[in-house]
Amino acid sequence: MPTLLLPEAFNNCARPCQVQGAPRRNRQARPLSFFRAPHHSVTMTTKLRPRFWERIPLKNMTPAEWEAVCDGCGKCCLNKLEFEDTGEVAFTRVACRLLDGETCRCTQYAARRRYVPDCVHLSMKTLPDIAYWLPRTCAYRLLHEGRPLYDWHPLLSGDPASVHEAGASVRGWTLPESDIPEEDWEDHIIEETP
Ligand code: SF4
Ligand code: SF4
Repeated sequence: MPTLLLPEAFNNCARPCQVQGAPRRNRQARPLSFFRAPHHSVTMTTKLRPRFWERIPLKNMTPAEWEAVCDGCGKCCLNKLEFEDTGEVAFTRVACRLLDGETCRCTQYAARRRYVPDCVHLSMKTLPDIAYWLPRTCAYRLLHEGRPLYDWHPLLSGDPASVHEAGASVRGWTLPESDIPEEDWEDHIIEETP
C-alpha cells in the first residue's frame, strides 16, 4: 500500500449560505472531525489503498481515506450569500472567525462548536444536501458528482502545499468576519461560485 504524508489538520468544514433578507446562520463542517487536531504541526503517516479516490465510492472509504480526500483549500469556511429571489449562491472573501487565513485550517477544530454552533459536520449523510454550495473545486463535491480530482490535489501531487501553490486555496486573501459586518458581505463577493 502506498504511504502518503498528510498534515493532521486539513479543513473539511464548509460553511453554508446566508440568505439575503432573511439570513440563516449555518455553517458546514468537515468529515471525520474526531481525527482533527488543528494546532498540531506534526505530520502523520497514513496507509491508503492505491488510487482509492478513483476506485472506491466515498461511502466505502475508510476514515483515513475519507479524510485524505480533503484538499485543505479552506474555501468551505468562507461565508456565502444565497439570494432568495434567484437561489444564486455567492462566495465572499469574508471567512469564518475560526479560519486561519494562512494555513487555511480551523484554529479550534476540536472545540469549534463552542464558538460556531452551526458548523456542520461534512459526512456521507450531509454531503448530498450541501454539495450544491460547496466550492466547485471541493474534492468531496467532485467525487460525489463523478468527476476527477484536479492535478494539484495533494493525493495526486503528493504534496499538501500544492493546493496553495496552484492558487486553489484561500491562503492570503480572506478577511476576518470580525472586521466585516454581515450587511457588508455583499461588497466582498468573489468570482468563486459553487
Ligand atoms: S476540499 Fe476544500 S472545500 Fe472541500 S471540504 Fe476540504 S477544505 Fe473544504
Ligand atoms: S468553525 Fe472551523 S471548520 Fe467550521 S466553518 Fe469555521 S473555520 Fe471552518
